[in-house]
Amino acid sequence: MSSDTVRVRFAPSPTGFLHVGGLRTALFNFLFARKTGGKFILRIEDTDRTRYVEGAVENLIKTLHWAGLEYDEGPIAGGDYGPYVQSERTDIYKKHIEILLEKRVAYRCFCTPERLEQMRKEQEKKRLSPKYDRRCLLLSEKEVQDSIASGKPFVVRMKVPEHVPVRFSDIIRGEVEFMSDRVDDQVLLKSDGYPTYHLANVVDDHLMKISHVIRGEEWLSSTPKHVLLYEFFGWELPKFAHLPLLLNPDRSKLSKRQGDVAVEDYRAKGYLKEALVNFIALLGWNPGDEREIFTLEELEKEFSLERVNKSGAVFNIEKLNWLNFQHLRRKPDTEVLAMLKEYLTHSQNSLQFTVHSSQFDDQYLLSVIGAMRERVTFVKDFVEKSPYFFQAPKAYDPAVVKKRWNQQTPEHLKVLVDEFSQLVSPQKKDYEAALHRAAESSKIGNGGLIHPLRLAVSGMGEGPGLFDIVLILGKEETIRRINLAIERIK
Ligand code: GLU
Repeated sequence: MSSDTVRVRFAPSPTGFLHVGGLRTALFNFLFARKTGGKFILRIEDTDRTRYVEGAVENLIKTLHWAGLEYDEGPIAGGDYGPYVQSERTDIYKKHIEILLEKRVAYRCFCTPERLEQMRKEQEKKRLSPKYDRRCLLLSEKEVQDSIASGKPFVVRMKVPEHVPVRFSDIIRGEVEFMSDRVDDQVLLKSDGYPTYHLANVVDDHLMKISHVIRGEEWLSSTPKHVLLYEFFGWELPKFAHLPLLLNPDRSKLSKRQGDVAVEDYRAKGYLKEALVNFIALLGWNPGDEREIFTLEELEKEFSLERVNKSGAVFNIEKLNWLNFQHLRRKPDTEVLAMLKEYLTHSQNSLQFTVHSSQFDDQYLLSVIGAMRERVTFVKDFVEKSPYFFQAPKAYDPAVVKKRWNQQTPEHLKVLVDEFSQLVSPQKKDYEAALHRAAESSKIGNGGLIHPLRLAVSGMGEGPGLFDIVLILGKEETIRRINLAIERIK
């Protein structure tokens, strides 16, 4: 197929937030379109009115935009094949139902929900797989017309041919075959006049000239129905690619019970879009070598459906965290600064202490970023892992106190304060030299001061270089904190 004919779609149902599996489907479609110079289309499949959630479409579009997956055609953006929202296309589906009825490959079914329920129970008792028993297929034309005239509600079902193999090839799975006996006479038009997913999906894929249907494995078992519908209409099949299932680490199907599944949740937790997109890309796809860190632009160049495998992809949160760390440390200082400032202003209330970003100027925050860069996974870690850059410690780690603080420590620290006090515009090396002098005059090793000093300024036993911390806090603040610790640590 020449590259200008590639047209792919992401066709979510607006039933709530965008699921990470949905983002994966959207991403793979987007990447395939970008790689091949094709078009990426967003189509909203909202014909199941009972599952419709207010605001879900807006949220979907917002989330795709956040992730950088801009679509070429779709709601709001428009395009030559609209409308792109299925509830605005009901006339189109009705017209196509007429075609199928005319061809006698579909029929009206007047069975009541009660009768269908009864039928299902009996099939269950006999351990048969649930399937419509085709009672309404036996109705005469007159019976059908009378029922319509009397206003009986009905659905339209597809008439699945008996005992024929239904075949299609899948780019990821190869040749797939289902016997038609396993396919139910699927409802195509519901009694409320709305089409089911199956009809609307096939009609729209055809009318929107979709070349490749790339979607999750959960739709594989619906594909025979779709293939039959294409045959009924006499339309050419698109190419299919069913993406592997997403699994929890215990290899069960990815579920809410074992962690977050909404993209929104990851965003709210402070994951970078770069990390999430990179992580999602690796759920089923690999570049064929050891590389793991990719930007969206790199993925657009590297992606291919041939490198998508069919075995389930495990959603490993440690890997996502690692990618977040990697992408955060690749960001320029100025970008991290902007994110840190935003974090400081927005999370003031939830922080244990009050910080106003205006309290700390850009220069100060940039030096904190420089000191902590290699130690943070999330932007919030700048505050959570090194709160001492924003406030004097309120407590001192008892294990460190026990190990590093003895009766002579206050005395030794007083000598250190004397040395520090005499420094003028000190640099790192000046603090270091001052500490050496203090240790010498107290006749102790440097360690006898280094550890208590770290404890005094940070409340902790570890962190970035001690003299980096001291330099960032400045002479006055450092001395104040040493005196505070002498007072408080017993
Ligand atoms: N509306 C379906 C969904 O919610 C689309 C499946 C497909 O891509 O065909 O995922």
